[in-house]
Amino acid sequence: MQDNEDAPVTHAKVVVVGAGPAGSATALHLAQLGIDDVVIVDLHDFPRDKTCGSGLSPRAITTLQELKIWDSIEPLTYPITDLRIVTRDGHEALVSAGEKAAAAICLRRDLDFEIHERSLEAGVKFLPGFAASEPIVRGDRWIGIKARDGREVRAEWVVVANGAHSTLSTATGPKRMIHAIMGWWEGVDYRPHTVEMIWDDLTLPYYGWLFPETETRVNIGITYQDDHKLKNARRIFRAFLAKHYRDRLEGATQLGKWKGHPIVYSYRLGHLWTPGGWWSARLDA
Ligand SMILES: Cc1cc2nc3c(=O)[nH]c(=O)nc-3n(C[C@H](O)[C@H](O)[C@H](O)COP(=O)(O)OP(=O)(O)OC[C@H]3O[C@@H](n4cnc5c(N)ncnc54)[C@H](O)[C@@H]3O)c2cc1C
Repeated sequence: MQDNEDAPVTHAKVVVVGAGPAGSATALHLAQLGIDDVVIVDLHDFPRDKTCGSGLSPRAITTLQELKIWDSIEPLTYPITDLRIVTRDGHEALVSAGEKAAAAICLRRDLDFEIHERSLEAGVKFLPGFAASEPIVRGDRWIGIKARDGREVRAEWVVVANGAHSTLSTATGPKRMIHAIMGWWEGVDYRPHTVEMIWDDLTLPYYGWLFPETETRVNIGITYQDDHKLKNARRIFRAFLAKHYRDRLEGATQLGKWKGHPIVYSYRLGHLWTPGGWWSARLDA
């Protein structure tokens, strides 16, 4: 923590930490509810990249519709109508939602920027380059958030939405760890508007996927449990690709390097809010 007595203090009704989809959607919704003093902070300025399969589920689309921003996001998406499922025994099923897209692929750079921009249009104030490091606490209540450079935002509500690796998490008990690794290819033969989900002993209880991002580009990835960081992501991914995509990757062009990310999660949340004149809400991604 930098000791900087001259660092500015911002006052707000609500401060949201993290401007990913969870934080920006929360800030936007608060503004739509008429709360005109919402500040959102993030390490980064926007647009920024985030490694992700970029799949928007039907429920995610419904949420974006409820936020009244789907109309501006939909043109940025690749629509998905069908799902190819492969079981661990190698059985296959193709499920179709009909002609109307039920899901979509939207690059996170575009999705996150769009939600963020709509929140700013709605009156949310944004502080980029704000590395939130610790809560400002009075008694048992959070009354704000402090950045590493000494800046502060003091607020009646603190919403924490800074992703899976948040050091501000209040989750209790041991956390679980899954790992995801993925890559991007041009020229893979795939069924248009169809996502593929493949269950395999290599990844159980999780799965591998192929998501088409455009008419010519797909991302392929896997997610598997790895609580103790004992597994080799690249080795498992190589085996998965050889088993399920060897033929279709022949002649395809890989774009960039594979990207891997551990994802820490817990179903045992800590206190989500504290009662009293000042409130804090902490969301675990
Ligand atoms: C390889 C991979 C593939 C995935 N595929 C899919 C998919 O296809 N579909 C799907 O729905 N989900 C997918 N996910 C999960 C999805 O990415 C997350 O659930 C989602 O990003 C969570 O959103 P969030 O807003 O909670 O956090 P994030 O998107 O992580 O955003 C958190 C924000 O907080 C900021 N931040 C972090 N620390 C600080 C700090 N100290 N101070 C200030 N700001 C901070 C970050 O800069 C970031 O902008 C995937 C994840 C991975 C790793």
